[in-house]
Amino acid sequence: MIQLIRGFKDILPGEVELWQAVEKVARELLEDFGFKEIRIPIVERTELFARSIGEDTDIVEKEMYTFPDRKGDLITLRPEATASIVRAYIQHRLYAKDPVQKFYTIGPMFRRERPQKGRYRQFYQINAEIFGVQSGLVDVQLIFLLVRLFARLEVADVITHINSLGCPKCRPQFKAALSEFFASVSDQLCADCIRRKDRNPLRVLDCKVPACRAAVADAPAIIDHLCSECKADFDEVQNMLQKLGVPFVVDKNLVRGLDYYARTTFEIQTGSLGAQNAVAGGGRYDGLVSELGGPDIPATGFAIGFDRLTELTGLAASQFYRKPDIFVAALGDKSRLLAFEWICALGDEGIRAELDFAGKSLKSQMKRADRLAADHVLIVGDDELAKGEAILRNMKTKDQASIPLDGLVEAIKNRIY
Ligand code: ATP
Ligand code: MG
Repeated sequence: MIQLIRGFKDILPGEVELWQAVEKVARELLEDFGFKEIRIPIVERTELFARSIGEDTDIVEKEMYTFPDRKGDLITLRPEATASIVRAYIQHRLYAKDPVQKFYTIGPMFRRERPQKGRYRQFYQINAEIFGVQSGLVDVQLIFLLVRLFARLEVADVITHINSLGCPKCRPQFKAALSEFFASVSDQLCADCIRRKDRNPLRVLDCKVPACRAAVADAPAIIDHLCSECKADFDEVQNMLQKLGVPFVVDKNLVRGLDYYARTTFEIQTGSLGAQNAVAGGGRYDGLVSELGGPDIPATGFAIGFDRLTELTGLAASQFYRKPDIFVAALGDKSRLLAFEWICALGDEGIRAELDFAGKSLKSQMKRADRLAADHVLIVGDDELAKGEAILRNMKTKDQASIPLDGLVEAIKNRIY
């Protein structure tokens, strides 16, 4: 038997109802906040991710599914969505009419990491991006939206972590301070971090290796090195979060991505997922649109881990199962052919109707109706045909009624609605 690939998974009926419900809540909220859906390809040129995510990141260094296509061009299964959305924004000149644009997308991402609970090689994200607004207030709006979404989905035990990464003006100064600090603790750092500490010291703050995490605990805080504009921006973000009643902690070691990221960065963490504690992350990436060849337009966004969200929500798939509205127990070939026409017409009317095609006994058909938890059973056999009516039984109340065959679909529709 051929099994699926490690780190990949099937989302089966019984579980998929929860995914659908979560997606519906997320879509509605995003659209209420003015986001429009954008659908982007699953594969892109490798260069797009290498340049936007950054060469020194875990994703680009070791997690991407990259392979040559049949002509030898290097292509990559997308590990995240922001790069593609920025590419689309530039390629279709979406900024020309109005630089302010809000997009969301929902779909699978691919990273070759070590599979474990909450960490898969194909996982799903809900992604939102806002282009063309320089204000920290929209960063606050994104965080607010996330917090509201988690509340609607009954996700308990979440906490918002925020930090500021400064801007190209103040960043060189704190990068130098960080490099100097890491040089003093380099005997405690992993090989990756020793290499990264001078090239890109911010990445060291993000390392998952326990020894590195311990070593960075005393690292200098970026927010102590912010320029006056970045400091004012970060103050505004914190004040507004307070006004909106969003609890948060300032996390001095929270970093994301590379140099194109700026100012506010945030992560929603939970105590209930073990080591995989991040449910969503995001932040401002003001330099990325111009870095990828577009005009100098600021942007900000977030990505939610959909899989982790479904593991955290207080909602249960069973709340969303759809049982058959009616099971038609037809006895004899003539009844069955008539019943077949009915179930087709009922389905078209939005009534979920099931029929047994195997010609089983009434007893075994009733058993199946029970197993499917159908609300109603419609019984029709030769006797009923002769009388010109079928029997409708309400499985909850056990009430029975005779329904004339003439106009039966309409009559059932009226009773069930
Ligand atoms: P982590 O720190 O857990 O590796 P990350 O910083 O790599 O997360 P992002 O790139 O910020 O993650 O992606 C946003 C969200 O996507 C994460 O907060 C997480 O919920 C989810 N996510 C990331 N990688 C995976 C994965 N391999 N499997 C499942 N969910 C994931
Ligand atoms: Mg990761």
